[in-house]
Amino acid sequence: MATDRVENNWKLESGWLCLDFANTMEWHASDHPIENLTSYAALIAWARPIGFLTDRTVQQLLRAADQHPAEAARILDRAVALREAIYHIFAAVAHGQTPAAAEQSILNAELSRSLSKSRLVWNKATFDWERQGEHSDLDQILWWIVRSASELLTGEDIKRVGVCADDRGCGWLFYDTSRNGSRQWCSMRGCGNRAKARRHYEKERAETA
Ligand SMILES: [Zn+2]
Repeated sequence: MATDRVENNWKLESGWLCLDFANTMEWHASDHPIENLTSYAALIAWARPIGFLTDRTVQQLLRAADQHPAEAARILDRAVALREAIYHIFAAVAHGQTPAAAEQSILNAELSRSLSKSRLVWNKATFDWERQGEHSDLDQILWWIVRSASELLTGEDIKRVGVCADDRGCGWLFYDTSRNGSRQWCSMRGCGNRAKARRHYEKERAETA
């Protein structure tokens, strides 16, 4: 199966929905992480520009969340737990370690939920995954994320997932599309640029010393 980006033309930083989702926490590998998913509306605000929810669905979800705040809060808790599980599983694999059993359990629990709402539909020459349920199902974002994570975790592409090498704890995950798999930074504009500037500064300092 093609990646989400190719398949759906979604606007993703990493090319994978599950990795972009994992990066909704900033400074993820530091002791001062910054949480972006601070409310159910913030979860929608993250998902909206990517393009896998229609505008109509977004409106329905925001309305449903207003009407059922306790349920929306529960879904947000599940989303954050799933995000942390996905992040730590991919980071462990990228570091050549075995993912923790607790993280695997969280992912598998969400996988069971998502499979119970899935069906395969014939699409001309192949089958597509389709979500079953209402447009206003508050947890439908998780269905898409679990699907993306399952696909990336079970294929050869998992070897291309890396953790930003920034030594201050950026910790963002990336999908390495370089031919020799040499990528180190979440982005050359961000951490890669900072590392380059620091090396330059340290070299200059060493030369003037
Ligand atoms: Zn980074």
